[in-house]
Amino acid sequence: MASAMSAMAVQSGRIRVLKEGSRGCEGQFGPVVYWMFRDQRVRDNWALIHAVHQANNANVPVAVVFNLFDQFLGAKARHLGFMLRSLRQLSQDIQQYLQIPFFLVQGEAENTIPDFLRECGASMLVTDFSPLREVRRCKSAICNRVSDSVAIHEVDAHNVVPLWVASDKLEYSARTIRGKITKMLSEYLIDFPTTEPPTRKWSGKNQLIDWDDLIAEVLRIGAEVPELRWCEPGEIAAMEVLTGSKNGFLTKRLKNYSKDRNDPSKPSGLSGLSPYLHFGQISAQRCALEAQKLRKSHPQAIEAFLEELIVRRELADNFCYHQPHYDSLQGAWEWAHKTLLDHANDKREHIYSREVLEKAQTADPLWNASQKEMVYHGKMHGFMRMYWAKKILEWTRGPEEALETCIYLNDKYEIDGRDPNGYVGCMWSICGVHDQGWRERPIFGKIRYMNYAGCKRKFDVDRYIAYVNKLVGEAKKRKAENLLSEK
Ligand SMILES: Cc1cc2nc3c(=O)[nH]c(=O)nc-3n(C[C@H](O)[C@H](O)[C@H](O)COP(=O)(O)OP(=O)(O)OC[C@H]3O[C@@H](n4cnc5c(N)ncnc54)[C@H](O)[C@@H]3O)c2cc1C
Repeated sequence: MASAMSAMAVQSGRIRVLKEGSRGCEGQFGPVVYWMFRDQRVRDNWALIHAVHQANNANVPVAVVFNLFDQFLGAKARHLGFMLRSLRQLSQDIQQYLQIPFFLVQGEAENTIPDFLRECGASMLVTDFSPLREVRRCKSAICNRVSDSVAIHEVDAHNVVPLWVASDKLEYSARTIRGKITKMLSEYLIDFPTTEPPTRKWSGKNQLIDWDDLIAEVLRIGAEVPELRWCEPGEIAAMEVLTGSKNGFLTKRLKNYSKDRNDPSKPSGLSGLSPYLHFGQISAQRCALEAQKLRKSHPQAIEAFLEELIVRRELADNFCYHQPHYDSLQGAWEWAHKTLLDHANDKREHIYSREVLEKAQTADPLWNASQKEMVYHGKMHGFMRMYWAKKILEWTRGPEEALETCIYLNDKYEIDGRDPNGYVGCMWSICGVHDQGWRERPIFGKIRYMNYAGCKRKFDVDRYIAYVNKLVGEAKKRKAENLLSEK
């Protein structure tokens, strides 16, 4: 009897055939391999479900392979430690509960993945989807390098409504994509099937991965930005943040979301899900399904949460996919580009170097606090991210330098950095992407302006600064203790 998992095919709209396979000379079908990249989870993963479904249909085994790049968008110990600790658990779970082997290869995926496929005689590669150029470049190189017989399928396991279903063009704003996404929710926001082991078992050898060694190595190389203590990696931890009985977002913190999410002095007002969503340790669809159950009791909070989780997040993927210049001034709309250049040479009260900014040594204590929140805590409050980025526009020599600095710092320190949301967040703040034009003023031109007085009116600035100072104190104490114990 076919398993529950194999019985359910993934909706065809979620899958794109990147390459048809010719089925080899004897018409024999080899294993299916899932190259896991963006969606690093066993549970609620449409790409994994599709890989197993394809394997069961062809009565062949299936394996998961993960490529650890030598260098990917400047990831440091903070990012790689979080990712590998979660993958270590995933590799055990997937073997134990689904009897699917997990392989880890190192280097450039455009070499390692075709090599892996060749070695195991695979006939099909399934990948998850990312709109970022590095991943797309890599996938097209893989398509060119694998043998004619291998088929390659891409599954959007990250977005609730697959990117290519939601829209086939660059959307102007949340207003223009919202209706397109909500129209498709009845079709795509559906329950996941139960995951069961594939029918045909892998006959080759499993790989013994020395995780301790691997983790120690990435921690050593990326030591400049250390790991975080407060943010436990993995699927179980992610579900705990979503629905845990102790301090879960939906179970304990939801009721104040619409009110507190713009108050940086109340950090637990936000869901705290972004690290898990970024690394794919939780599915946005799972978050939405769980959230929907509470729509009756907390209509406003759920509305606001789903707007961020689905509309804003998927709009960011749309931008990065359809705008090749998603992280540069060239990616700004024409009006914004013009207004920024018109004001590029306006006199600035302060110009700070990247080093001064990075060390949080500006004359603005609120900005310094937000920078420290990012450096030491690894996750700046969402409201402060806007203020933080806009000040960088005010304090650097021009919009290009501002954007570069903003992305550099965001990607280096934010645990959820190196994400479409990050590129779009910086582009929104500095280049007015997905925003509208506002009253013209120096430096900003028609880009929306934010200032200290506005923040003071909105929330308790001193309380936020005190909160960050406490975090910094704790982080420094930990560092000193670590140094002592190393000695
Ligand atoms: C300058 C700047 C930089 C940013 N950098 C990043 C980044 O590197 N990575 C990142 O994930 N987000 C980034 N954001 C978007 C947003 O600030 C964070 O997603 C949010 O603060 C994460 O915390 P949370 O999960 O607790 O938020 P919640 O409010 O609980 O949101 C739940 C989820 O909705 C999505 N979401 C929320 N706000 C936005 C938004 N404005 N745009 C797109 N999706 C959103 C995220 O996936 C988030 O995890 C940035 C925003 C700005 C203005």
